[in-house]
Amino acid sequence: MSAHPTIRLKSREGRRAIAGAPWIFSNEIEMDARTRSLAPGTLVNVVRADGNDLGTGYFNPKSLIAVRLLDPVADAEIGDAFFASHLARALSRRAALFPEHFYRLVHAEGDGLPGLTIDRFNMTFVVQITTAGMEALIEPMFGALDDVASPECVILRNDAPSRALEGLDSYVRAARGEIPDRMTVHENGVRYFADAASGQKTGWYFDQRDNRAFIAALAKGQRVLDCHSYTGGFGLLAAHAGATHVTCLDSSAPALALASAAAEANGVGGKVKFTKADVFDELERLAATNATFDIVIADPPPFVKSRKDLEAGARAYRKLARLAASVTAANGYLLLASCSHNMPHDRFLAECAIGIARAGRRASILRDAGAGPDHPVHPMLPETAYLKALVFVLD
Ligand code: SAH
Repeated sequence: MSAHPTIRLKSREGRRAIAGAPWIFSNEIEMDARTRSLAPGTLVNVVRADGNDLGTGYFNPKSLIAVRLLDPVADAEIGDAFFASHLARALSRRAALFPEHFYRLVHAEGDGLPGLTIDRFNMTFVVQITTAGMEALIEPMFGALDDVASPECVILRNDAPSRALEGLDSYVRAARGEIPDRMTVHENGVRYFADAASGQKTGWYFDQRDNRAFIAALAKGQRVLDCHSYTGGFGLLAAHAGATHVTCLDSSAPALALASAAAEANGVGGKVKFTKADVFDELERLAATNATFDIVIADPPPFVKSRKDLEAGARAYRKLARLAASVTAANGYLLLASCSHNMPHDRFLAECAIGIARAGRRASILRDAGAGPDHPVHPMLPETAYLKALVFVLD
């Protein structure tokens, strides 16, 4: 007898999953009354229309992504041993990449653990769960994390808006230890501060690590404008790398306060200025005064939150590219980023190119990159390659 209830694919449906992708959509399965009545997060066996097994996953009748596969074997036991082996593998892959324990430890499907994100700040771990299936597995997951990494502190940032799509509530709590006032991040030789409880996402964006290093390599002797600076990721590294002057621009006062404290801690406080303003307004104001910067970074929040926002979001990226290009000096560098997974790479590049041209500038692309290797991409899930970061040099 099978331990998990069975979900059956409709005939000729689920091609992506059969080819190796981990998602099965609700329109691809036989949704009878028994299936519909399964509790969100139930572990299931998935079988193809021809009766062959597709493996073990978790199911949510409320979600468009009805099943996320966890194991290619049917009736797999998803418990401590499953999580211990996945977490140990994720840990050894990061250990091979980074000298210190500051990285994204688990990047959901990219690490075979759909619905789970874990960012590691030395012995403090910030966990985000975005699916009912992973929420139901929280105890074995924490048990394995204790065994594999011995955390001093584990913070659950279960306040992502996408949880509502899975019927999950929103909360933040310490699962181990106590939530610290602020965390320290070591990255690229700089010390930053992050707020685990109320900062954005998990408090820090590890994804831009390599893009920050690329900009820093160009920064010596340059004047830098870091738009959407958040807690100073790009700007403080550029200052540390020898920029003569850096402006960190953001609309968030708490983020700028952490950036300012970190500038002092790194001994670069004297050459970094902090401006709390709307980026669009401030770029227009700067352009009107003919101000220029040798390096401009624009790393905005996602402008395309769902597919229906694509056209409005595309216009916003184009406008940001135009305004940012208008304050970039001759022979200066411009980094434009998008973290919207609903914004395809080629469309983003086209919008950036048009925006720069509309500022009356010509440009070449020096770097076309994504997130760092602690954000592994599932090769059959383009959605996991959400970050686009283009570096242009302008004539
Ligand atoms: N570049 C940062 C991450 C940026 S996250 C890093 O390397 O860590 C996006 C930032 O944009 C957030 O800090 C948010 O406060 C800011 N933001 C969002 N909308 C804004 C706006 N209209 N004007 C200024 N800042 C904005």
